[in-house]
Amino acid sequence: MAVQSRNGGRPDEPVVVVGAGLAGLAAAMRLQGHPVLVVERDDAVGGKARSRERDGYTFDLTGHWLHLREPDLRDLVFGLLGEESLNRLARRATVWLDGRVITYPFQANINGLPLGARVRCLGSYLAARLRGGNGDPAQMRFEDFIVERFGRGMARHFFIPYYSKKFHGIALDELRTEWLKDYFPMPTTAQVIRGAFGRDHRIGYNSRFLYPERGGIGVLPEAMLKACAGRAGFELRLETSLEEIDLAGRRLRLSDSPRWRRWGAIISTMPLADLLDSVTVLPEEIRDARRALRSSAMRYADVALRAPSPIREHWVYTPGPEIPFYRMGVYTNAAPLMAPPGGASLWVEIAGQAGPVADSEIIEALVRIGAVAAPEDVLFVDQHKVEHAYVVFDDAREKAIGTILPWLAGQGIHSCGRYGRWGYGSMGDAINDGFSAAALVAGAADGV
Ligand SMILES: Cc1cc2nc3c(=O)[nH]c(=O)nc-3n(C[C@H](O)[C@H](O)[C@H](O)COP(=O)(O)OP(=O)(O)OC[C@H]3O[C@@H](n4cnc5c(N)ncnc54)[C@H](O)[C@@H]3O)c2cc1C
Repeated sequence: MAVQSRNGGRPDEPVVVVGAGLAGLAAAMRLQGHPVLVVERDDAVGGKARSRERDGYTFDLTGHWLHLREPDLRDLVFGLLGEESLNRLARRATVWLDGRVITYPFQANINGLPLGARVRCLGSYLAARLRGGNGDPAQMRFEDFIVERFGRGMARHFFIPYYSKKFHGIALDELRTEWLKDYFPMPTTAQVIRGAFGRDHRIGYNSRFLYPERGGIGVLPEAMLKACAGRAGFELRLETSLEEIDLAGRRLRLSDSPRWRRWGAIISTMPLADLLDSVTVLPEEIRDARRALRSSAMRYADVALRAPSPIREHWVYTPGPEIPFYRMGVYTNAAPLMAPPGGASLWVEIAGQAGPVADSEIIEALVRIGAVAAPEDVLFVDQHKVEHAYVVFDDAREKAIGTILPWLAGQGIHSCGRYGRWGYGSMGDAINDGFSAAALVAGAADGV
């Protein structure tokens, strides 16, 4: 079946899918029967869900846990990977605060705080609940939401240091809350009170998760590629990036050739800001909207240990200024085969604004929080940078994407995936996004 976009695409031109992360691969899987060209800048598929191996140690782009709430997604992943190849895990996550270890989520487990801080947190929480702040979080600024919902004590001890100072590096009154959706654990008042007196609550979307027994999360995109490869009309070009789009001529240029080529439709999963920067001429309204798109970068480090990590956690939040990273985790606590026998593989996440952090500072901090027994246990540290790791949900974002995305769709460009729609979301969300974009394009082709 040829692709004929209602907005002027040509029947014999392929759908160009930009990016072979989970959204791009999901779109390609669903475009069976259509000619599809997938272009990927990187030298392998997977995007943020790629894994890398060095000296027998496997690392993701920081721990990528599967929490597949929708039965369709579970079936898809089980079908691709085999259910038996996934470890089923009950979350072990904590917050390391001034040498104390508090069960995550913080708001449901303040029993780990010193007595005075615990009383202040609980007091201000109860006062906030009595004031009854039950505003729709989707309409609020993050700081107002936190203070209204959890009180000033918890805001001061955890949320402000973690989200504003460490994670985003922007004032919380600039941040909105649309991204919280299903991702922010919301304990009941009874759970917060019980959590203040010693009963741990393991609530939240990620209290249980799945993770491949071996190979890291990268086995998922690889299996998705396998499902497409060999199919008539499917082509993948690695180390090939989209460079330029000429809308008027309905043609694009890839990095592997100076020649322009025509397209039937584009499904783009590259970051929306970069996609717009590749369009030769943008209308003024879209140029203005583009300027409003903000994101923050992050750095992360793969850390290989010759010895086991002394901690049992899958991941740990570190909101304090004395630790250079805001979160770390231990892959081998979820899948021992991520390291050679007797070793461990870890990651740390460092906010983009933190500036360069020396490997020695990372190692020192890992020893300080107890995740590494001694500096000599560290075999290597590899640091990486991720641009646009987190989209900033400020006041301007919603209006900007409300202007940009429909305009792009009108041009036959469907921008989807976590960064294509300039949002926040899980791997499952990215897969669903890719499926939806493919359905739109196939629907247009079939004249639906
Ligand atoms: C630090 C971190 C931790 C996370 N942890 C989890 C987790 O535990 N569980 C979970 O479910 N989700 C997690 N996520 C979210 C998850 O990684 C994403 O939702 C998902 O991988 C996004 O897939 P995508 O295909 O939309 O985007 P991407 O994976 O970013 O794919 C886009 C692709 O486009 C390519 N590209 C970019 N520009 C070009 C160009 N010009 N030409 C060609 N190709 C280009 C990129 O190389 C990339 O491969 C995490 C995300 C981050 C950042």
